Amino acid sequence: MSCKRKHIAIIGAGASGLFLAKKLSESPNMKVTLFEKNRQVGAKLRASGGGKANIFNRDVRPEHYNAPDFVEKLLQLYSPKQLEQQFANWGLVTVSDEEGRVYPASQFSQTVVDVLADFASDHVHIETEYNIQHIEYQRNKWQIDDYPTLFDTLVLASGSPAGMIPKNQRGYNHYLQDLPLKVNSLQPSLAGFLLNDYPKSLSGCRTKAIVSLYQGNKLIHKESGEITFKDDGVSGIVIMNLSAYYRRLSSQKNCRLEINLTYWDEAFDTGTYLRNNQNVTGLLHPKLAVLYQQKPFDIHRLTFQIADTYALDTAQVCHGGIDLSEIDHLFKAKNVQNLYLLGEILDVDGVCGGYNLFFAFASAAIAAASLTK
Ligand SMILES: Cc1cc2nc3c(=O)[nH]c(=O)nc-3n(C[C@H](O)[C@H](O)[C@H](O)COP(=O)(O)OP(=O)(O)OC[C@H]3O[C@@H](n4cnc5c(N)ncnc54)[C@H](O)[C@@H]3O)c2cc1C
Repeated sequence: MSCKRKHIAIIGAGASGLFLAKKLSESPNMKVTLFEKNRQVGAKLRASGGGKANIFNRDVRPEHYNAPDFVEKLLQLYSPKQLEQQFANWGLVTVSDEEGRVYPASQFSQTVVDVLADFASDHVHIETEYNIQHIEYQRNKWQIDDYPTLFDTLVLASGSPAGMIPKNQRGYNHYLQDLPLKVNSLQPSLAGFLLNDYPKSLSGCRTKAIVSLYQGNKLIHKESGEITFKDDGVSGIVIMNLSAYYRRLSSQKNCRLEINLTYWDEAFDTGTYLRNNQNVTGLLHPKLAVLYQQKPFDIHRLTFQIADTYALDTAQVCHGGIDLSEIDHLFKAKNVQNLYLLGEILDVDGVCGGYNLFFAFASAAIAAASLTK
């Protein structure tokens, strides 16, 4: 008995697009065409986690994201446990660390891409080096550029320009202008900070610290971990996480970083130390010790005013994107027919630790369930 398959077009063969295509390949009623502008699929997924891909976290909570209310509802529909089970069913062996970060056991991101691109049927067709410019919905079908097939449903999974060189950022997601969707401006998140009045001599210094982000007198966020001093600012996972909280502020004015270098004991008594020792050579990283010698500073509170984050090409994700008011809890567009939106194209960003890939995969899993029900 022949059945008429629903034909789905997915724009973007990244984390969410591949996950959705793989899920739909298990359904006899679906036919999928996956459009990817690059020659290879899953480019950003391959670059993730320094090439190891931190694919999710066992402990995902709403407050890890800029949109906690939306994520709270998402977690009722799809949990990290379900994602773990899904990957296990697909044969991906994973391991996790003490902070709940989950990686492929191979410690190689390509393994994740290979598992996702190993479809259960020949119902998925991939068009690579196909950079979509225009989309149009007419007479209940989607037309994509001048592609010869018309589609029943369109899924936008083309991510964001974060982490891309400026040349590749230009015109990114240009095709969105064909749709009546509210798109919030894109800003770098999970990026380093450019600092004012910064001593370049610190460049190359790596140290552990407790770092606090303040706006005026208000503590916005505080974290402990390794930081790296660059030519004109600081980076590192702790700093990237602080940049996510910085982006969520309604205004970025009057923000500063306070760096407590006595990370092993916040209340370490530097007064006693300095009375018993001539200098801080035995206490601080050599570059910080030299700076202290030249111009003493409060070791509990080395303070810098924030000029901005580093640019989008160094960021891991974008803050901004398609406004969440445009979709329902199943990732279906409210005001455009037969349209779904997944992953980072939406205005959802999380901190470091596997939260962004979790969101991309979870959005695809929920949309797949909606499409196949
Ligand atoms: C360096 C780096 C490291 C990261 N590490 C982690 C990590 O360890 N853990 C984590 O959770 N998150 C990490 N992230 C973030 C994470 O990779 C992204 O949030 C996630 O990949 C987003 O998935 P997505 O499916 O929305 O988009 P993507 O994975 O970016 O996929 C979008 C795809 O769409 C394609 N595309 C775009 N426009 C078009 C078009 N017009 N026509 C056709 N195709 C198009 C793109 O080429 C791309 O392949 C990292 C990001 C970066 C940059």
